[in-house]
Amino acid sequence: MPVECNPFAFLSRHLEVLKGKNLYRHLRTVESAQDSWVTLEGRKVLNLCSNNYLGMASHPDVKEAAVQGTREWGCGTGASRLICGNFSFHRVLERRLAAFKGTEAALLYSSGYTANLGVISALAGSEDCIFSDELNHASIIDGCRLSQARVLVFPHNDLEALEDKLRRASRSGRARWKLIVVDGVFSMDGDIAPLPELVNLAAKYESFLMVDEAHATGVLGPGGRGVVALFGLEKVVPVGISTLSKSLGSLGGFVTGSQELVEFLINTSRSFIFTTALPAGVVASALAALDLLEADPSLPLKVQENARYLRDGLNRLGYNTLNSQTQIIPAVIGDTALTLQMSHLLLNEGVLAAAIRPPTVSKGTCRIRTAVMATHTRQDLDFALGAFEEAGRRLAII
Ligand SMILES: *Cc1c(COP(=O)(O)O)cnc(C)c1O
Repeated sequence: MPVECNPFAFLSRHLEVLKGKNLYRHLRTVESAQDSWVTLEGRKVLNLCSNNYLGMASHPDVKEAAVQGTREWGCGTGASRLICGNFSFHRVLERRLAAFKGTEAALLYSSGYTANLGVISALAGSEDCIFSDELNHASIIDGCRLSQARVLVFPHNDLEALEDKLRRASRSGRARWKLIVVDGVFSMDGDIAPLPELVNLAAKYESFLMVDEAHATGVLGPGGRGVVALFGLEKVVPVGISTLSKSLGSLGGFVTGSQELVEFLINTSRSFIFTTALPAGVVASALAALDLLEADPSLPLKVQENARYLRDGLNRLGYNTLNSQTQIIPAVIGDTALTLQMSHLLLNEGVLAAAIRPPTVSKGTCRIRTAVMATHTRQDLDFALGAFEEAGRRLAII
């Protein structure tokens, strides 16, 4: 006789295990627009965990563009790009994104997540080797898995370890192509990849570099053009990945590079080919956000200035913010239960900041991850620091 008759019993068992380890996750509901302050389950709280870095998601011009785009073109696109869903507005946005990033061409995807899946799995196969930073975003990790390439994970930003792996792979001569892939800005630590050194290593070991700009677009580099532009490497990094969903306040992902790369992806990249094209409202809002960003180069600087202010304040209170150099600022707490308590106390003080636990970060490095926006005022940031002081004292961790 089977001991267990319910084939789904493992679901509840799994959930109980997660709860026991303080790793259970649940969805919280926001009841207002994505902004620097939001209503969360009936309470107005300071939003310190949004990727809407420039406030574009609720900017009046961006909203109006979405309405206009929808009015003119309708809601859905009805087909994938290769069937009959390739509209003139897609081409307009792709040309604008390529010009913005200083590359020959760009190609839209449904999201940054599916861009990484589709680009990595199209560029690498079972004969190839991918060198991946251990802190790369989950979508890069999943793209690597899908590609079936040999994946060599190197310690975070460790150029020596990477070179050692590149040297061995070159010597063995087994890999057809060698692809180095990194986040430009790491999404949980807020530090920056050493791109000039990575470009040199890529050249030395005849490999090519792919940089994910999700958190860099709109924030770093001249005019917010990203981290590749920050180092002036637009003509040297052959593959860039980014998103419309963060600084550009919309939805969708995109890849930038040569015209040939784009043509190759149109012909081979499954997450591009087998999905419906982005709708007009989404594309129009991204275009409007790009217009606003190009018209006001002070926006990215405002994010950086706010980041500096919050980071300095947290450091002064005694929090460890790792090597954060950007608008993503972790405050490392360590223990899982303590980190959860910290986020609850912060919420009591009126501050919404995410508790980040394994598997998103490694065990023992649990943290409150904060992210600042251009639209946060000095008063907002002082309010946040007050909450961190109060909560930290209560837990006796500062
Ligand atoms: C957010 C993010 C993505 C995914 O982008 P979406 O458009 O939200 O799917 C990819 N890579 C990195 C580094 C990210 O932070």
